[in-house]
Amino acid sequence: MIFQQQLRIPGPAPLPERVVRAAGKPMIDHRGPEFAALLREVLDGVKRVFETENDLVLFTSSGSGGLESAVANLVSPGDEVVCCVAGNFGERFAGMAAAYGARVVRLEAEWGQPVEPADLEAVLEAGVVFITHNETSTTVANPLEALVRVVRRHGRISAVDGVSSIGSMPIEVDRVGVDVAVSASQKGWMAPPGLAFVSVSERAWERAGTALAPRFYFDWAETKKFQRDGSTPFTPAISICYALQEGLRMMEEEGIQNVYARHRRLADATAGGLEAMGFPLFAAEGYRSPVVTGALPMPGLDVNAYRRLLREKYGLVIGGGQGKMTGKMFRVGHLGYVTDGDVVQILWAMERALEDMDIAPYDGRGLAGAARHLSEEAVPAAL
Ligand SMILES: *Cc1c(COP(=O)(O)O)cnc(C)c1O
Repeated sequence: MIFQQQLRIPGPAPLPERVVRAAGKPMIDHRGPEFAALLREVLDGVKRVFETENDLVLFTSSGSGGLESAVANLVSPGDEVVCCVAGNFGERFAGMAAAYGARVVRLEAEWGQPVEPADLEAVLEAGVVFITHNETSTTVANPLEALVRVVRRHGRISAVDGVSSIGSMPIEVDRVGVDVAVSASQKGWMAPPGLAFVSVSERAWERAGTALAPRFYFDWAETKKFQRDGSTPFTPAISICYALQEGLRMMEEEGIQNVYARHRRLADATAGGLEAMGFPLFAAEGYRSPVVTGALPMPGLDVNAYRRLLREKYGLVIGGGQGKMTGKMFRVGHLGYVTDGDVVQILWAMERALEDMDIAPYDGRGLAGAARHLSEEAVPAAL
Protein backbone atom coordinates (compact mmCIF):
# COMPACT_ATOMS: atom_id res chain seq x y z
CA MET A 1 0.00 0.00 0.00
CA ILE A 2 1.50 3.35 -1.01
CA PHE A 3 -1.00 5.44 0.96
CA GLN A 4 -1.45 5.25 4.69
CA GLN A 5 -4.03 2.79 5.94
CA GLN A 6 -6.97 4.25 7.81
CA LEU A 7 -6.41 2.40 11.09
CA ARG A 8 -9.77 2.56 12.88
CA ILE A 9 -9.56 -0.22 15.43
CA PRO A 10 -9.89 0.61 19.14
CA GLY A 11 -6.15 0.47 19.70
CA PRO A 12 -3.44 0.48 18.69
CA ALA A 13 -4.54 3.86 17.40
CA PRO A 14 -2.96 6.00 14.65
CA LEU A 15 0.21 7.97 15.35
CA PRO A 16 0.79 11.63 14.48
CA GLU A 17 3.93 12.35 12.46
CA ARG A 18 5.38 14.25 15.45
CA VAL A 19 5.07 11.14 17.59
CA VAL A 20 6.61 8.86 14.98
CA ARG A 21 9.63 11.17 14.78
CA ALA A 22 9.93 11.34 18.57
CA ALA A 23 9.95 7.55 18.79
CA GLY A 24 12.94 7.46 16.44
CA LYS A 25 15.32 9.41 18.69
CA PRO A 26 18.71 7.89 19.55
CA MET A 27 18.98 5.75 22.68
CA ILE A 28 19.99 7.20 26.02
CA ASP A 29 21.22 5.74 29.29
CA HIS A 30 18.13 4.66 31.22
CA ARG A 31 20.00 5.40 34.46
CA GLY A 32 21.19 8.82 33.34
CA PRO A 33 19.89 12.39 33.73
CA GLU A 34 18.21 12.57 30.29
CA PHE A 35 15.99 9.62 31.11
CA ALA A 36 15.24 11.01 34.57
CA ALA A 37 13.96 14.24 32.96
CA LEU A 38 11.96 12.27 30.37
CA LEU A 39 10.40 10.06 33.05
CA ARG A 40 9.50 13.04 35.19
CA GLU A 41 7.77 14.85 32.31
CA VAL A 42 5.85 11.73 31.28
CA LEU A 43 4.70 10.88 34.82
CA ASP A 44 3.61 14.48 35.49
CA GLY A 45 1.77 14.68 32.16
CA VAL A 46 -0.06 11.39 32.67
CA LYS A 47 -1.02 12.41 36.23
CA ARG A 48 -2.52 15.67 34.95
CA VAL A 49 -4.71 13.66 32.57
CA PHE A 50 -5.68 11.23 35.36
CA GLU A 51 -6.38 14.35 37.48
CA THR A 52 -4.64 12.81 40.45
CA GLU A 53 -2.06 13.60 43.09
CA ASN A 54 -1.69 9.86 43.77
CA ASP A 55 1.51 8.05 42.90
CA LEU A 56 1.74 6.84 39.33
CA VAL A 57 3.79 3.76 38.51
CA LEU A 58 4.91 3.00 34.98
CA PHE A 59 5.52 -0.44 33.50
CA THR A 60 6.97 -1.55 30.20
CA SER A 61 4.10 -3.82 29.21
CA SER A 62 0.82 -3.79 27.37
CA GLY A 63 -2.28 -2.62 29.24
CA SER A 64 -2.91 -6.08 30.59
CA GLY A 65 0.38 -5.89 32.51
CA GLY A 66 -0.94 -2.82 34.31
CA LEU A 67 -4.15 -4.68 35.12
CA GLU A 68 -2.20 -7.71 36.34
CA SER A 69 -0.18 -5.40 38.61
CA ALA A 70 -3.43 -4.29 40.25
CA VAL A 71 -4.34 -7.90 40.99
CA ALA A 72 -0.82 -8.90 42.10
CA ASN A 73 -0.51 -5.94 44.50
CA LEU A 74 -4.03 -5.88 45.97
CA VAL A 75 -5.06 -9.50 46.36
CA SER A 76 -4.16 -12.36 48.69
CA PRO A 77 -4.93 -15.91 47.66
CA GLY A 78 -8.35 -16.85 49.04
CA ASP A 79 -9.61 -13.23 49.13
CA GLU A 80 -13.10 -12.62 47.90
CA VAL A 81 -13.22 -9.93 45.20
CA VAL A 82 -15.98 -8.52 43.01
CA CYS A 83 -15.46 -8.35 39.24
CA CYS A 84 -17.88 -6.38 37.10
CA VAL A 85 -18.14 -8.38 33.89
CA ALA A 86 -20.06 -6.97 30.93
CA GLY A 87 -17.74 -7.92 28.10
CA ASN A 88 -14.42 -9.36 27.09
CA PHE A 89 -12.18 -7.05 29.14
CA GLY A 90 -14.22 -7.53 32.32
CA GLU A 91 -13.81 -11.23 31.64
CA ARG A 92 -10.02 -10.79 31.38
CA PHE A 93 -9.80 -8.87 34.69
CA ALA A 94 -11.83 -11.63 36.38
CA GLY A 95 -9.55 -14.27 34.82
CA MET A 96 -6.50 -12.53 36.27
CA ALA A 97 -8.03 -12.33 39.74
CA ALA A 98 -8.84 -16.05 39.59
CA ALA A 99 -5.31 -16.85 38.37
CA TYR A 100 -3.93 -15.14 41.51
CA GLY A 101 -6.13 -17.30 43.71
CA ALA A 102 -8.93 -14.85 44.49
CA ARG A 103 -12.46 -16.11 44.95
CA VAL A 104 -14.27 -14.12 42.30
CA VAL A 105 -17.81 -12.87 42.77
CA ARG A 106 -19.03 -11.94 39.31
CA LEU A 107 -21.40 -9.04 38.80
CA GLU A 108 -22.56 -9.55 35.24
CA ALA A 109 -24.42 -7.34 32.82
CA GLU A 110 -25.67 -8.32 29.42
CA TRP A 111 -23.27 -7.42 26.58
CA GLY A 112 -24.17 -3.98 25.29
CA GLN A 113 -25.56 -2.89 28.67
CA PRO A 114 -23.77 -1.01 31.46
CA VAL A 115 -23.04 -2.43 34.90
CA GLU A 116 -25.75 -1.17 37.27
CA PRO A 117 -24.59 0.57 40.47
CA ALA A 118 -27.65 -0.78 42.33
CA ASP A 119 -26.63 -4.34 41.43
CA LEU A 120 -23.15 -3.68 42.77
CA GLU A 121 -24.69 -2.67 46.09
CA ALA A 122 -26.23 -6.13 46.36
CA VAL A 123 -23.02 -8.15 45.95
CA LEU A 124 -20.62 -5.94 47.89
CA GLU A 125 -19.26 -8.22 50.55
CA ALA A 126 -15.73 -8.40 49.27
CA GLY A 127 -12.58 -6.28 49.45
CA VAL A 128 -11.49 -5.16 46.01
CA VAL A 129 -13.90 -4.30 43.23
CA PHE A 130 -12.62 -4.58 39.66
CA ILE A 131 -14.41 -2.32 37.19
CA THR A 132 -13.96 -1.77 33.46
CA HIS A 133 -14.45 1.92 32.69
CA ASN A 134 -14.85 1.69 28.93
CA GLU A 135 -15.70 -1.89 27.89
CA THR A 136 -14.05 -1.79 24.47
CA SER A 137 -15.54 -5.14 23.38
CA THR A 138 -19.16 -4.01 23.74
CA THR A 139 -18.50 -0.28 23.10
CA VAL A 140 -20.16 0.61 26.42
CA ALA A 141 -18.90 3.29 28.82
CA ASN A 142 -19.89 2.22 32.32
CA PRO A 143 -21.21 4.79 34.85
CA LEU A 144 -17.89 4.87 36.72
CA GLU A 145 -18.61 7.64 39.17
CA ALA A 146 -21.81 6.00 40.43
CA LEU A 147 -20.11 2.60 40.68
CA VAL A 148 -17.14 4.01 42.62
CA ARG A 149 -19.53 5.86 44.95
CA VAL A 150 -21.03 2.50 45.93
CA VAL A 151 -17.57 0.99 46.41
CA ARG A 152 -16.52 3.85 48.68
CA ARG A 153 -19.71 3.84 50.70
CA HIS A 154 -18.90 0.25 51.62
CA GLY A 155 -15.28 1.08 52.42
CA ARG A 156 -13.99 -1.10 49.60
CA ILE A 157 -11.18 -0.53 47.13
CA SER A 158 -11.80 0.14 43.45
CA ALA A 159 -9.43 -1.01 40.71
CA VAL A 160 -10.42 0.42 37.36
CA ASP A 161 -9.46 -0.72 33.87
CA GLY A 162 -9.24 2.67 32.18
CA VAL A 163 -6.98 1.37 29.44
CA SER A 164 -9.16 2.54 26.56
CA SER A 165 -10.86 5.44 28.34
CA ILE A 166 -8.27 7.58 30.10
CA GLY A 167 -6.98 10.33 27.85
CA SER A 168 -10.11 10.21 25.69
CA MET A 169 -12.84 10.72 28.28
CA PRO A 170 -12.69 12.29 31.75
CA ILE A 171 -11.90 10.02 34.70
CA GLU A 172 -11.05 12.55 37.47
CA VAL A 173 -9.36 9.98 39.67
CA ASP A 174 -9.13 12.14 42.81
CA ARG A 175 -12.55 13.77 42.66
CA VAL A 176 -14.30 10.47 41.92
CA GLY A 177 -12.11 8.62 44.44
CA VAL A 178 -10.75 5.84 42.21
CA ASP A 179 -8.15 3.87 44.20
CA VAL A 180 -6.34 2.26 41.30
CA ALA A 181 -6.64 3.33 37.67
CA VAL A 182 -4.81 1.71 34.76
CA SER A 183 -4.20 2.95 31.23
CA ALA A 184 -1.86 2.10 28.35
CA SER A 185 0.06 4.04 25.72
CA GLN A 186 -1.55 2.64 22.54
CA LYS A 187 -5.09 3.90 23.15
CA GLY A 188 -6.00 7.59 23.38
CA TRP A 189 -2.47 8.71 24.19
CA MET A 190 -1.31 8.78 20.55
CA ALA A 191 1.70 6.55 21.26
CA PRO A 192 2.64 3.00 20.24
CA PRO A 193 1.92 -0.01 22.49
CA GLY A 194 4.45 -0.77 25.23
CA LEU A 195 3.74 1.29 28.35
CA ALA A 196 1.15 0.83 31.10
CA PHE A 197 0.54 3.36 33.87
CA VAL A 198 -1.19 2.77 37.18
CA SER A 199 -2.28 5.34 39.76
CA VAL A 200 -2.28 4.12 43.36
CA SER A 201 -4.19 5.82 46.21
CA GLU A 202 -3.13 5.87 49.88
CA ARG A 203 -5.71 3.19 50.66
CA ALA A 204 -4.45 1.03 47.80
CA TRP A 205 -0.85 1.37 49.09
CA GLU A 206 -2.01 0.22 52.53
CA ARG A 207 -3.69 -2.80 51.06
CA ALA A 208 -0.67 -3.56 48.85
CA GLY A 209 1.47 -3.58 52.00
CA THR A 210 -0.48 -6.53 53.43
CA ALA A 211 -1.59 -8.37 50.27
CA LEU A 212 0.18 -11.68 49.84
CA ALA A 213 -0.04 -12.48 46.13
CA PRO A 214 3.39 -13.09 44.57
CA ARG A 215 4.83 -10.21 42.54
CA PHE A 216 8.19 -9.31 41.12
CA TYR A 217 8.22 -7.45 37.78
CA PHE A 218 4.91 -5.79 38.62
CA ASP A 219 5.76 -4.83 42.21
CA TRP A 220 4.41 -1.31 42.77
CA ALA A 221 6.61 -0.52 45.79
CA GLU A 222 9.81 -1.51 44.02
CA THR A 223 8.81 0.52 40.96
CA LYS A 224 8.01 3.57 43.07
CA LYS A 225 11.38 3.33 44.82
CA PHE A 226 13.26 3.49 41.51
CA GLN A 227 11.02 6.17 40.03
CA ARG A 228 11.77 8.42 42.98
CA ASP A 229 15.37 8.51 41.79
CA GLY A 230 14.41 9.03 38.15
CA SER A 231 14.66 5.52 36.82
CA THR A 232 12.83 2.19 36.65
CA PRO A 233 13.75 -1.22 38.11
CA PHE A 234 14.09 -2.78 34.65
CA THR A 235 15.04 -1.38 31.24
CA PRO A 236 12.09 0.78 30.15
CA ALA A 237 10.72 1.16 26.60
CA ILE A 238 12.62 4.42 26.10
CA SER A 239 11.34 4.99 22.55
CA ILE A 240 7.75 4.70 23.72
CA CYS A 241 8.50 7.15 26.55
CA TYR A 242 9.64 9.66 23.91
CA ALA A 243 6.52 8.99 21.87
CA LEU A 244 4.28 9.38 24.91
CA GLN A 245 6.04 12.63 25.84
CA GLU A 246 5.19 14.02 22.40
CA GLY A 247 1.62 12.67 22.52
CA LEU A 248 1.11 14.34 25.90
CA ARG A 249 2.45 17.65 24.58
CA MET A 250 -0.03 17.47 21.71
CA MET A 251 -2.90 16.72 24.09
CA GLU A 252 -1.96 19.75 26.17
CA GLU A 253 -1.66 21.96 23.10
CA GLU A 254 -5.16 20.96 22.03
CA GLY A 255 -6.44 21.27 25.61
CA ILE A 256 -7.63 18.18 27.41
CA GLN A 257 -11.27 19.34 27.54
CA ASN A 258 -11.12 19.87 23.76
CA VAL A 259 -9.72 16.36 23.39
CA TYR A 260 -12.71 14.97 25.31
CA ALA A 261 -15.18 17.06 23.31
CA ARG A 262 -13.63 15.88 20.04
CA HIS A 263 -13.99 12.23 21.03
CA ARG A 264 -17.63 12.71 22.04
CA ARG A 265 -18.36 14.53 18.78
CA LEU A 266 -16.70 11.86 16.64
CA ALA A 267 -18.62 9.12 18.47
CA ASP A 268 -21.93 10.90 17.92
CA ALA A 269 -21.13 11.52 14.26
CA THR A 270 -20.08 7.90 13.69
CA ALA A 271 -23.20 6.61 15.44
CA GLY A 272 -25.43 8.99 13.47
CA GLY A 273 -23.85 7.90 10.19
CA LEU A 274 -24.04 4.16 10.91
CA GLU A 275 -27.66 4.39 12.00
CA ALA A 276 -28.57 6.34 8.86
CA MET A 277 -27.00 3.50 6.84
CA GLY A 278 -29.25 1.00 8.62
CA PHE A 279 -26.82 -0.51 11.13
CA PRO A 280 -28.32 -1.20 14.60
CA LEU A 281 -25.93 0.20 17.23
CA PHE A 282 -24.80 -2.35 19.80
CA ALA A 283 -24.41 -0.29 22.98
CA ALA A 284 -27.36 0.89 25.04
CA GLU A 285 -28.28 4.49 24.38
CA GLY A 286 -26.84 6.87 26.97
CA TYR A 287 -23.84 4.59 27.57
CA ARG A 288 -22.20 4.73 24.14
CA SER A 289 -18.45 4.92 24.29
CA PRO A 290 -16.68 8.06 23.06
CA VAL A 291 -13.73 6.02 21.75
CA VAL A 292 -15.32 3.18 19.78
CA THR A 293 -18.69 2.63 18.11
CA GLY A 294 -20.06 -0.87 17.64
CA ALA A 295 -22.90 -2.03 15.42
CA LEU A 296 -24.59 -5.19 14.18
CA PRO A 297 -24.72 -6.06 10.48
CA MET A 298 -28.00 -5.62 8.63
CA PRO A 299 -29.60 -8.83 7.28
CA GLY A 300 -27.57 -10.35 4.45
CA LEU A 301 -24.26 -8.71 5.36
CA ASP A 302 -21.32 -10.97 6.24
CA VAL A 303 -19.21 -8.97 8.71
CA ASN A 304 -15.94 -10.72 7.85
CA ALA A 305 -16.39 -10.20 4.11
CA TYR A 306 -17.35 -6.57 4.70
CA ARG A 307 -14.26 -5.90 6.80
CA ARG A 308 -12.07 -7.60 4.22
CA LEU A 309 -13.48 -5.47 1.41
CA LEU A 310 -13.04 -2.28 3.45
CA ARG A 311 -9.42 -3.17 4.12
CA GLU A 312 -8.52 -4.27 0.60
CA LYS A 313 -10.43 -1.77 -1.54
CA TYR A 314 -10.66 1.27 0.76
CA GLY A 315 -7.62 0.88 3.03
CA LEU A 316 -9.96 1.16 6.00
CA VAL A 317 -9.30 -1.18 8.92
CA ILE A 318 -12.10 -1.55 11.46
CA GLY A 319 -12.39 -3.95 14.37
CA GLY A 320 -14.50 -7.09 14.49
CA GLY A 321 -16.40 -8.50 17.45
CA GLN A 322 -14.63 -10.12 20.39
CA GLY A 323 -15.42 -13.19 22.48
CA LYS A 324 -18.95 -14.39 21.84
CA MET A 325 -19.52 -11.55 19.35
CA THR A 326 -16.68 -12.63 17.04
CA GLY A 327 -17.91 -12.39 13.45
CA LYS A 328 -21.24 -10.97 14.63
CA MET A 329 -20.52 -7.25 14.96
CA PHE A 330 -17.98 -4.62 13.99
CA ARG A 331 -16.35 -1.82 15.97
CA VAL A 332 -15.08 1.47 14.57
CA GLY A 333 -12.32 3.02 16.67
CA HIS A 334 -12.07 6.81 16.82
CA LEU A 335 -9.60 7.42 19.61
CA GLY A 336 -6.47 9.50 19.76
CA TYR A 337 -5.29 11.10 16.55
CA VAL A 338 -8.63 11.09 14.72
CA THR A 339 -10.66 14.02 13.53
CA ASP A 340 -13.92 14.98 11.81
CA GLY A 341 -12.52 14.54 8.31
CA ASP A 342 -11.52 10.97 9.19
CA VAL A 343 -15.09 10.14 10.18
CA VAL A 344 -16.26 11.46 6.79
CA GLN A 345 -13.83 9.09 5.10
CA ILE A 346 -14.89 6.13 7.29
CA LEU A 347 -18.58 6.60 6.57
CA TRP A 348 -18.04 7.22 2.87
CA ALA A 349 -16.06 3.98 2.50
CA MET A 350 -18.50 1.97 4.59
CA GLU A 351 -21.46 3.10 2.52
CA ARG A 352 -19.63 2.54 -0.80
CA ALA A 353 -18.72 -0.97 0.31
CA LEU A 354 -22.39 -1.74 1.03
CA GLU A 355 -23.12 -0.89 -2.60
CA ASP A 356 -20.19 -3.05 -3.77
CA MET A 357 -21.73 -5.96 -1.87
CA ASP A 358 -25.22 -5.38 -3.30
CA ILE A 359 -26.67 -4.59 0.11
CA ALA A 360 -27.85 -1.04 -0.65
CA PRO A 361 -27.05 1.64 -3.24
CA TYR A 362 -24.81 4.56 -2.25
CA ASP A 363 -26.75 7.80 -1.81
CA GLY A 364 -24.72 9.64 0.82
CA ARG A 365 -27.13 8.93 3.71
CA GLY A 366 -24.25 7.95 6.02
CA LEU A 367 -22.61 11.33 5.71
CA ALA A 368 -25.97 13.05 5.97
CA GLY A 369 -26.58 11.22 9.25
CA ALA A 370 -23.24 12.36 10.60
CA ALA A 371 -23.23 15.92 9.30
CA ARG A 372 -25.13 17.64 12.09
CA HIS A 373 -22.63 16.34 14.65
CA LEU A 374 -19.45 17.20 12.80
CA SER A 375 -17.35 20.28 13.36
CA GLU A 376 -17.29 22.83 10.56
CA GLU A 377 -13.51 22.50 10.39
CA ALA A 378 -12.30 19.13 9.15
CA VAL A 379 -9.03 19.53 11.10
CA PRO A 380 -9.05 21.49 14.37
CA ALA A 381 -6.22 24.00 14.26
CA ALA A 382 -4.51 22.53 17.31
CA LEU A 383 -3.81 19.24 15.57
C1 LIG B 1 -6.95 -2.50 24.95
C2 LIG B 1 -7.56 -2.80 26.27
C3 LIG B 1 -6.85 -3.47 27.27
C4 LIG B 1 -5.41 -3.87 27.20
O1 LIG B 1 -5.05 -4.69 26.23
P1 LIG B 1 -3.49 -4.96 25.96
O2 LIG B 1 -3.56 -5.67 24.67
O3 LIG B 1 -2.98 -5.77 27.07
O4 LIG B 1 -2.82 -3.61 25.90
C5 LIG B 1 -7.46 -3.67 28.50
N1 LIG B 1 -8.69 -3.23 28.73
C6 LIG B 1 -9.41 -2.57 27.80
C7 LIG B 1 -10.77 -2.08 28.15
C8 LIG B 1 -8.86 -2.32 26.55
O5 LIG B 1 -9.56 -1.65 25.63
